[in-house]
Order: sequence, then C-alpha cells, then structure tokens
Amino acid sequence: MVFKFTDMNSGGVMKSIYKTILIDCDNETEAIELFKARFDRHPRNVTCNCCGYDYTFVDFDSLEDATALDRMCQMSQDYKTFHEKPSTDEDAAYFSKFNKYVTFDEYIKLSTDVLVIKMVDAAS
Ligand SMILES: [Zn+2]
Repeated sequence: MVFKFTDMNSGGVMKSIYKTILIDCDNETEAIELFKARFDRHPRNVTCNCCGYDYTFVDFDSLEDATALDRMCQMSQDYKTFHEKPSTDEDAAYFSKFNKYVTFDEYIKLSTDVLVIKMVDAAS
C-alpha cells in the first residue's frame, strides 16, 4: 500500500520542505511509524487548533495510483482508478500539479516537494 501524506500548512507553516510524502509499506501503523522515524513528529499532531492536523493522509494501492490525479491521468468516474494516459477532462489540468500529463518518473523528477519512503529502504 501507499500512504499519501499532505502537509496541511497548519498554523501557516509547512512542517518540512515536502508538501507530499508518499510512504510505501504494508499498513497504516507502519506508515505512521516510518513517518515519525523520519520527521520526529506524529502526522496527527495539531500545531494550530483552528487548522487541525499537521498532515492528512489517504491510502492507495500503488505510487502510480497515489499520484494519478496530480499527474493528469485519465481518471474513472469515481476517481478510484485511472488510465496511464493524458486526461481529456475539462478540469484535469486544474487538478494536476504541472498542468500537463506526466509519467510517475517524470513527476518525481520534476517535484522538489515530494518525498518517497519505502519500507525496504527505511529498514536497511
Ligand atoms: Zn490555524
């Protein structure tokens, strides 16, 4: 599974240089442990009460799934699955990160604010 953590700018500040942190591991408990080991902070920490949690997170099946909308892939009607090709939807560019379709490798190369953590790397 892949857990996609998004910095919510709680209290008006980013908690690291990464807006998006993708953690590839087996379950939510592991994801939070890996997150804490790397950032010395629980993602559910609340820096500012009016803003809420420092990070939100959602789980996906793969890194490609987790970034499909950002990469402007063609999404299914319910946004649960996607095709690895440029979206033809009117608002796809708006919801994407670079206003164009990119592959996962290109997305990582172009993004300075995205960190990928894999359980195998973290353990070694
Ligand atoms: Zn606030």
